[in-house]
Amino acid sequence: MKVLKFGGTSVGTPQRMKDVVKLITDGEQKIVVLSAMSGTTNSLIEISDYLYKKNPEGAMETINTLEQKYKKHVDELYTTDEYKKKTLEFLKQEFDYLRSFTKGIFTMFEEKIIVGQGEIMSTNMVTNYLLEQGHNATLIPALEFMRTDKNAEPDLQYIREKLKVQLEENPGKEIYITQGFICRNAYGEVDNLQRGGSDYSASLIGAAIEASEIQIWTDIDGMHNNDPRFVDKTAPVSHLHFEEAAELAYFGAKILHPTCVQPAKFAGIPVKLLNTMDPEAAGTVISNETEAKKIKAVAAKDNITAINITSSRMLLAHGFLRKVFEIFESYKTSIDMITTSEVGVSVSIDNKTNLNSIVDELKKFGRVNVDEDMCIICVVGDLEWHNVGFEAKATEALKDIPVRMISYGGSNHNISFLISADDKKRALQALSDKLFNA
Ligand code: ASP
Ligand code: MG
Repeated sequence: MKVLKFGGTSVGTPQRMKDVVKLITDGEQKIVVLSAMSGTTNSLIEISDYLYKKNPEGAMETINTLEQKYKKHVDELYTTDEYKKKTLEFLKQEFDYLRSFTKGIFTMFEEKIIVGQGEIMSTNMVTNYLLEQGHNATLIPALEFMRTDKNAEPDLQYIREKLKVQLEENPGKEIYITQGFICRNAYGEVDNLQRGGSDYSASLIGAAIEASEIQIWTDIDGMHNNDPRFVDKTAPVSHLHFEEAAELAYFGAKILHPTCVQPAKFAGIPVKLLNTMDPEAAGTVISNETEAKKIKAVAAKDNITAINITSSRMLLAHGFLRKVFEIFESYKTSIDMITTSEVGVSVSIDNKTNLNSIVDELKKFGRVNVDEDMCIICVVGDLEWHNVGFEAKATEALKDIPVRMISYGGSNHNISFLISADDKKRALQALSDKLFNA
């Protein structure tokens, strides 16, 4: 069985919901994971925010505005009075439920329930539409099987068992609709998998049922080889290894939630990134196989700070690096890149909260220099060191750009360059021109 996930924009209007239904009604059995309609989760967070701030009127206004929007969707989505009535009744219940939170105490528990209602609404609406159109579909509630353990990590064993029960209780359906994002915690309370967590839901569900494939549908035709917001002529990458996808996601490629790939990777299930606007396009396949000896893509990570420590006196002494790293550790600041020389070490961080204290302490060990507003450009592919020439090619592409640090060899999949944020666009374009469009 396949698992298909559609994000907020893919179900963002009644028309988009109808388009999704066209895509999922091909006769094949599948589980379909849906996000909330785009904008809804933000509105629900806004409602919670008003309630935290003890402003029930503000919350009420936002709830009522959202309700008006949803009511309009009903007319556009359904053709029969039966399903219009049924869905309006469902939505009335939903919004009355939301309004009930404006009275009484408001804590994290209530907030978790509220922010999860967007997925409850979108899945019910799409299921009703499928049923109205005569399709063999059913809704299986994520809160019945999606669960995290005491460490707030997904409890895959539990998910596997309970999802199986849900499927067995609804045998022979073509389409099983369920909610992304929402889950219960180890104590059975309503919780969620963090913003953007529907990808994670799909990956977990895929792993739990040992799906043949997980499809993540968005409105771009796969993961591109560079950031289309900054670079002309980018193209989708046809195939990525899970490790390459993880590097790209971490370094700023927006298409995939970084944690999402983990369950699919461990279960060895390929993840396809597909485009609702162009369903025939090949998209990107992410799997445990690699397309060897190839640079696949480039990504950039912003808001980086570089810190350089030089000490002619201490660097050769053993234990120096440990002392330096301990300072970062004591301020819970993780280091992204490291380069060393005989007399100094440079590191980059993306969390500046404790920068001043860190610099203060580092001064005990040597001269300290800070460069802010930097950016990491990350070149990803099958770059195992015996594959000659790739680092040279990437460096050659950046020959006109001042490079602050270079890091290569940390994994088989990545060369990182630290440059000034001002040069980001130029660097990304130069890499695309040299590596992909030459
Ligand atoms: N609706 C949730 C969010 O907006 C989850 C998701 O879309 O993946 O973050
Ligand atoms: Mg979303």
